[in-house]
Amino acid sequence: IQQITEQTKQVHARMAGIKHKLVVMSGKGGVGKSMTTVNLALAFARQGSQVGLLDVDLNGPCVPRMLGLHGHQLTMTPQGAVPPTGPLGVKVASMDFFLDDASPVRWKGPMDVSPVWLGLMEMNVIREFLADVAWGELDYLLADLPPGAAADKPPVIAGFIPDLAGAIVVTTPSEVASDVVQKSVTYARDMGIKVLGIVENMSEYRCPSCGELNELFEGNTEAMCEVLDLPLLGRIPFDRKLARTFDKGAPLLDESYPTIQRYQEIAGRIRTLLDYK
Ligand code: ADP
Ligand code: MG
Repeated sequence: IQQITEQTKQVHARMAGIKHKLVVMSGKGGVGKSMTTVNLALAFARQGSQVGLLDVDLNGPCVPRMLGLHGHQLTMTPQGAVPPTGPLGVKVASMDFFLDDASPVRWKGPMDVSPVWLGLMEMNVIREFLADVAWGELDYLLADLPPGAAADKPPVIAGFIPDLAGAIVVTTPSEVASDVVQKSVTYARDMGIKVLGIVENMSEYRCPSCGELNELFEGNTEAMCEVLDLPLLGRIPFDRKLARTFDKGAPLLDESYPTIQRYQEIAGRIRTLLDYK
């Protein structure tokens, strides 16, 4: 218990120089949470801010790979573990740097331990990690939180980050049809986390052969935002070309590219929401 208290204090000290701490969450995996987090980080950086990205998905930390930083390391200094810098000066701290393939926390395949135990182990590893990372001065820190496979996990980890400015929820038009987004918003609010708004990813899906817009889910996200009393921060179209550049670790950074402009607009809205809080 004492060690946990010490580490928690240290996490607070490590993050004291960060102005706005945001978490990005989603109801389930695969909706483009990492894609959104990374692109919003780049968007804030493009607007002249100092930005950090925290990737705490133990099972699939993918942020370094997306930014061409896979295989990089935190630099150990007497002041702490200094994160490497990716495109546009974005600092990246990922469990991917911290764990080697032999590490017991990189569990792959079936494991004969209880989920509760796994959860505790994960939490300890993440707390220890956060107590080490020396961020320095930042305007924004964006945390890519693991999806709620155990639906309660994201907010619990969010609890490690002191003075959280809020959460951004990523969803897709089809995910909205289920109640998983609504549940995670409710859970975050129950934990005292302010949800800033929703980003709809992979919207405007067009049939690859005929180019026609899929209208099956049109309007669902707006309706959900209304129910939850949340702003729709923006929509990101299904954009295979852009996504592929991140999958390859050589992200497209051209700010005149339409989808990148969408991310810039969303970052601008978040900035405004935080300024007038
Ligand atoms: P999550 O973090 O929610 O699990 P990812 O960000 O890793 O999801 O995205 C899952 C996959 O979908 C990735 O291969 C990514 O390149 C792709 N993807 C994400 N957003 C988009 C988009 N707007 N258009 C096309 N592909 C996307
Ligand atoms: Mg992800």
